[in-house]
Amino acid sequence: NDLKKISEISRIIKQSKIFFIAGHIKPDGDSIGSALALASVLNRLGKEACVYCIDEVPDFLKFLKGSDEIKKSAKKTDVFDCAIILEAINFSRMGDIITPCQSKKVINIDHHLTYTNFGTINYIVPSSSSTAELVLNILDYMKIKLTRGEAENLYAGILTDTGCFQQINTTPNSHIACAKLMKYGIDINEIYKKVYENGSINALKLRGIALCGIKTILDDSVSYIVLTKDMFKKSGAKDNDDSGIINYTLRIEGVKVGCLFKEIDEKTIKVSCRSVRSFNVLEVVGRFGGGGHKNAAGCTIKKGINASIKMISSVLKEKLAADKLLFCSAVFL
Ligand code: 5GP
Ligand code: MN
Ligand code: MN
Repeated sequence: NDLKKISEISRIIKQSKIFFIAGHIKPDGDSIGSALALASVLNRLGKEACVYCIDEVPDFLKFLKGSDEIKKSAKKTDVFDCAIILEAINFSRMGDIITPCQSKKVINIDHHLTYTNFGTINYIVPSSSSTAELVLNILDYMKIKLTRGEAENLYAGILTDTGCFQQINTTPNSHIACAKLMKYGIDINEIYKKVYENGSINALKLRGIALCGIKTILDDSVSYIVLTKDMFKKSGAKDNDDSGIINYTLRIEGVKVGCLFKEIDEKTIKVSCRSVRSFNVLEVVGRFGGGGHKNAAGCTIKKGINASIKMISSVLKEKLAADKLLFCSAVFL
């Protein structure tokens, strides 16, 4: 079934000339890495492909080849043969930078658990660690040799989406994909350094300030970190200097769920959730219109910090109690 989809995608790609390529708003390594690798290959094949992203590329991803050529938005009058939309549940998550009628064909490639089949063809594999892996499947099928830059960009996608191969979404296939990419001569140590150990001193200070305020609740099974605008001001950190901070929440013994509440403005909080093993945070953010994966999901709540914490923790409390009940009944059966 997947092979049929890949061959259909390959057919559409071959037939098209002008491409729109985009991931999601507030881009991450997978979104940018996959989009840039794909665009680079298509341009090498003599097509016209451009990557679009309404938001700025975070500093730690600016080393990715082609990231300086990303355009903010297409013109309303632009028309494309094919729009390749990665990592997005719908056009709105892509930032609505084109409308569906601006492209003859739409290829939707994603690995999120929450998806809608909005494309002409939808290649969705929730068991895949990353969209980068799926893009590599397509390029492999098309028998395309990659440039070093393309391999680096796909590797960065897998590296970041698996949390350096530590997360539960890391599969044998993720490693096989990386092994293939390494054969193109990429320097994985250099990529690691550029992504994770090349930040500003102010970003590190923001971490320090945020970590000082970490709290546990619900019998220490949940921990959370708050990031206020004030903390950004005090540390001098930039808006996207907070990446990775959420990972600290799961470092505490006994903690099953970690949350990060980031103040966008007084009445808007971006919530990120991470969980271990069977606890499903997608169900939690789903109540607030969010999305993502079982162990990593997010949403935006139109309330203040304290109200947002209350809303999330009350759903968590309910879910933890239900899971406990389920566990107990399983034990007694
Ligand atoms: P993060 O917490 O790092 O922002 O996101 C974790 C995962 O959830 C990512 O896969 C991200 O794409 C997804 N996600 C985060 N926020 C939202 C949201 O508001 N809507 C949807 N559909 N997915 C989200
Ligand atoms: Mn993503
Ligand atoms: Mn991804």
